Amino acid sequence: MKKKRTGLTAAIIIIVLALIGGGAYWYTSRTEFKLGRAGYSKEQIETIKSLFSEGEQTALINSPAQPDIITIAKSERYQKEHFEDYLKDLISGKKAQDILLDYDPWVITLRADECYKPEYLDLYLANRQDGTAEDAKYTINYVNMSLLYSEASEYDEARFEEYEAYRAKFPDLDPKEIVHRVNVSGEYLKEDYFIYAYLDRYEAYKEKNPDKTLAEVVQAVNTNIDRPYYTDIVTTDMSKGYQIMVNKYYKLPEDYSTKLESLSGYGNGYLEPTAAAAFKKMVEAGREAGVSLRSLSPYRSHSMQIWQYQVWVDAHGQEMADRESARPGHSEHETGYTLDINTAVEESHFERTKEYAWLMENCWKYGFILRYPENMEFITGYVFEPWHYRYVGPEHAEKIMKSGLTFEEYYAYYINNPDYQ
Ligand SMILES: [Zn+2]
Repeated sequence: MKKKRTGLTAAIIIIVLALIGGGAYWYTSRTEFKLGRAGYSKEQIETIKSLFSEGEQTALINSPAQPDIITIAKSERYQKEHFEDYLKDLISGKKAQDILLDYDPWVITLRADECYKPEYLDLYLANRQDGTAEDAKYTINYVNMSLLYSEASEYDEARFEEYEAYRAKFPDLDPKEIVHRVNVSGEYLKEDYFIYAYLDRYEAYKEKNPDKTLAEVVQAVNTNIDRPYYTDIVTTDMSKGYQIMVNKYYKLPEDYSTKLESLSGYGNGYLEPTAAAAFKKMVEAGREAGVSLRSLSPYRSHSMQIWQYQVWVDAHGQEMADRESARPGHSEHETGYTLDINTAVEESHFERTKEYAWLMENCWKYGFILRYPENMEFITGYVFEPWHYRYVGPEHAEKIMKSGLTFEEYYAYYINNPDYQ
């Protein structure tokens, strides 16, 4: 009995296995048959069976033949999870290469960038590095900019980063001009305050002063001290407003005049109304901090300056007068933006007072700068005047006081730089 039973079990197993095998064969042949009927060749069907899952094969059976799906699946850009999308797009008539790009995450990042230009896609693809979002940004910029730079005959691919560094400073400059400047400016490019328009003067000054560093050369030429005082005088550009330069190279226009506001209650004289209001606020803030500020010598009329300069010349000669006083038209006191606070003589050593210390900490908040700092006579043309303050507006005053630049240096680079106009 037992033996018979075993025989029966074996028979059942064999039948079941045969059914499964037959079913599998039937299924396989049905898929091949159906794919064939959908329009795929025998060879394509073999490939499809090796590339796609059963579910995907079913999807292919249920659509008109799309042989390009094989091209897509074999591409290195292929992404399995987008199978349905690829198929849908193929059916809608899109080209395989375009579809692959549409679902490439790096290309999606490229296309989302505001600087992306569709006509350069091939170049972006050719310059792809690591496929990160950062790389997309870099690649777009590299391709876009090198095409613009390469319009210049002097273009050198190896100097791309140098062009970019210069462009970062002057973003509005023509790329061809950037290539030219980088090419001719040499080591001067590394100087923070390099102004291309002065390149010839830098080179001439350096030749006469071979011991000076390039930074010193740039500083000297930017502030005109490569030229003697009171030579090459220009009428100052009044459109600079509170940032006008008045010194031994820049003079006020002959017909200069300004509105004035009395400093009554805050010391002597008058200032231009905005400067006057700022000074009053500063005096009040100082009072609260326990320091006492008053206007000693603010606005001076042109005729007053003529008289005062002449007094110096008569007493000490022109050389000494030029050191201590300004020639008429060249005095900041004529602008209405400037005043001497508390004193105007070295002997009183204003720089040792708590008033001076407070001004150094706070004057910029009210738009004033120390105009003639210590040890900067070679640039400003004036010895240290701890009492002499100039209104330039709070924004510029803060930058000047915190940078340690003289107004001359600041004006040359930030206010009067031809590349920032
Ligand atoms: Zn003064």
